[in-house]
Amino acid sequence: MSSSLCPPFSFASIIPPIIMQNVARNGTSTERDMAIHTLGIGESFRAYRAAQLPTLPPGVRRMPLMAQATMMRSIYDADYKTELPGRLVRTEGAPPTGDPMADEAYDGLGAVWTFYNDVYDRNSIDDRGMPMLGVVHFGKQFDNAFWDTRQMVFGDGGLFKRFTAAVDVIGHELTHGVTHYETGLNYFQQSGALNESISDVFGIMVKQRVRNLKAEESDWIIGAELFRGTNLQGVGLRSMKAPGTAYDDPVLGKDPQPGHMQGYVKTFNDNGGVHINSGIPNNAFYRVAVALGGYAWEKAGRIWYETLRDPKIRRNSGFTAFARQTIYNAGVLFGVGSKEQKAVSEAWRQVGVQPK
Ligand SMILES: [Zn+2]
Repeated sequence: MSSSLCPPFSFASIIPPIIMQNVARNGTSTERDMAIHTLGIGESFRAYRAAQLPTLPPGVRRMPLMAQATMMRSIYDADYKTELPGRLVRTEGAPPTGDPMADEAYDGLGAVWTFYNDVYDRNSIDDRGMPMLGVVHFGKQFDNAFWDTRQMVFGDGGLFKRFTAAVDVIGHELTHGVTHYETGLNYFQQSGALNESISDVFGIMVKQRVRNLKAEESDWIIGAELFRGTNLQGVGLRSMKAPGTAYDDPVLGKDPQPGHMQGYVKTFNDNGGVHINSGIPNNAFYRVAVALGGYAWEKAGRIWYETLRDPKIRRNSGFTAFARQTIYNAGVLFGVGSKEQKAVSEAWRQVGVQPK
């Protein structure tokens, strides 16, 4: 295990850099220090990530090695330092520690593992039984959470509530791992926004399953728990139902997400707007899930999951390629011309993505 600030590489953290830049500009001096510190750590992780992204060639699948999928969780405490992973505090099957962060991390990793295993018969993040590692109390004033391909790392928050409180955030981060092992979508521009959206799609479904919510009963808000009990003006980090409406806060700024291709933002910031334009495919998924009704993971989620595993989706695939394959896979799963396939076509049309 790495003992420095820099693990081999990391995936995106849950708080977009644009939010931290706004906090650094608008916050109190304490908040500014926190944001600059958090951004600084983020930059060093990001540099590693940029250098070492996915290696699986398109279409190559790793097959499960173990006949029986078994969950293996380990939770560590970084004791407010930035060395990973820190001190082991809870292993699989051990009783609660009494530290809410350690126990929420244990439960959250379990919820994600169980979601993928029960619903899609997937054996952990890599589909080969990868152990689930979580690190809590990472860094001082670390207002973020991320997955670095080995472990999920949580800060205690500051402006935001502690990051273990949001199970959709844990689902979001670990789904970056699933995407990495399946298509390895580049974390840049449209394929990056698709990568971000897939993490939101599966993250929200993890939360819906934990709470037994049907599509129409969900709020479709990512990271609602990070805002609960804080002074922040907003309901969460992103709204899949109404992109661009999640927050409008003097410190965080305003939610910049479009929900339609007409609002597509061309920028070099945020890896080419990966946390911004993800609002478009997010809204398409929301529309499919609500149109089909019931639990989102049963039909809409199945279509998205099969598409994520589809060899036709490459590292540089964009919205149109992904949309085309979801329509195709809806036909394979539910029949050509089925109401499911029509709902998928219609949802993409409503957000301005129309594969020929
Ligand atoms: Zn992400």
